[in-house]
Amino acid sequence: MKLKIALQKSGKLAEGSTALLRKCGIGFSNGLGKLRTEAADFPLEIFFLRDDDIPNYVADGVADVGIVGENVIAEDPKPVETIDRLGFGHCRLSIAVPKGIEYNGISDLRGKRIATSYPKILAEFFTSRSITADIHMISGSVEIAPSIGLADAVCDLVSSGSTLFSNGLREVETVMNSEAVLIARTGLNSELSETLNRLLFRIRSVNAASQNKYILLNAPVEKVNEISAILPGMKSPTVVPLAENGWVSVHSVISQHDFWNVVDNLKRAGAEGILVLSIDQMIR
Ligand code: ATP
Ligand code: ZN
Repeated sequence: MKLKIALQKSGKLAEGSTALLRKCGIGFSNGLGKLRTEAADFPLEIFFLRDDDIPNYVADGVADVGIVGENVIAEDPKPVETIDRLGFGHCRLSIAVPKGIEYNGISDLRGKRIATSYPKILAEFFTSRSITADIHMISGSVEIAPSIGLADAVCDLVSSGSTLFSNGLREVETVMNSEAVLIARTGLNSELSETLNRLLFRIRSVNAASQNKYILLNAPVEKVNEISAILPGMKSPTVVPLAENGWVSVHSVISQHDFWNVVDNLKRAGAEGILVLSIDQMIR
C-alpha cells in the first residue's frame, strides 16, 4: 500500500516540495500537466494539486499527507494533524499601508478598510489587539486594492517585500509567520504510518544537514582545548595528527546559524586552513 502525498502543482511551494522529496532520495517524474505520479524507489504516490485544496483532500482521505503553508491551515482549519515544519516556504502575513501615509501604530488601523485573503487570521489578530476594523475579503491581487480605492490597507503574504514595495505599499505589522508544513490525516493504518515515519526520518535528516556545516581546520596541539571549546559539535570534535609534528586537524559539525561568529573565534584561537563543507544527510 502506497502513502499518498499531495503537493502544490505550481506556485511558491511547488519547487521546494519536489526538491525536498528528491533530497530524500525519492525519484519521480512530473511531466508538465501531470496530476499524479508514482515514486520509483519509495512506496509513495504523488498528487499535484492547488495548495488551498490540499488540507481538504487530506482531511477527506483522498491523500494521506500533504505539504502546505501554515497560513492555509490557520485560515481554514481542517481535521488534519500538523506533523512537522519543513524549513522552506518561509513568509509572513503582514499588514501594509500606502507608502505616503503616516503610521504610528496599530491603533491607526481602527475603522479602516483592510483587504485580505486571510480574513479569519486577520480578525483574530485584531481581536487580540482590541482593534475594530473593516475587513474586506478578496481572493487575489490584494496588493492593488489601495491604489484602486478598494481599501486603506492590505494584509497579505510577504517574503522579500518587493511586491508590496512595487505597489507603493509599506509593511507595518506582522500578523503571522509561516513556512511549509507536513500535514497528515488521522487514522493511518500501521503500514502507512510506517511509511510516513520512514519519510519523516529522511526529511529530518535532510533538514538537519542543511542547518549544519562540516568544518575542518588545522591547529597547533597546544590550542586544541581552546578550539574544542569553541566548537559545539554533535559530540566532542575529532582530532587527527598531521604529518607535521605538533599540529593536528580538528573536525566537527557546526550550526549554520552562528557559523561566522564561530569561524572568527576559531581564527582568533589560532586555527588555520579552515575548510567548511555542506552536509547531505545527518542521520541521528
Ligand atoms: P495555487 O494555484 O496552488 O492556489 P496560490 O497562488 O494560492 O497557488 P502561492 O502564491 O503559490 O499560492 O503560495 C503558496 C504558499 O506559498 C502560500 O500559502 C505561502 O505559505 C507560501 N509563500 C512563501 N512565500 C510567499 C510569498 N512571497 N507570497 C505568497 N506566498 C508565499
Ligand atoms: Zn492557492
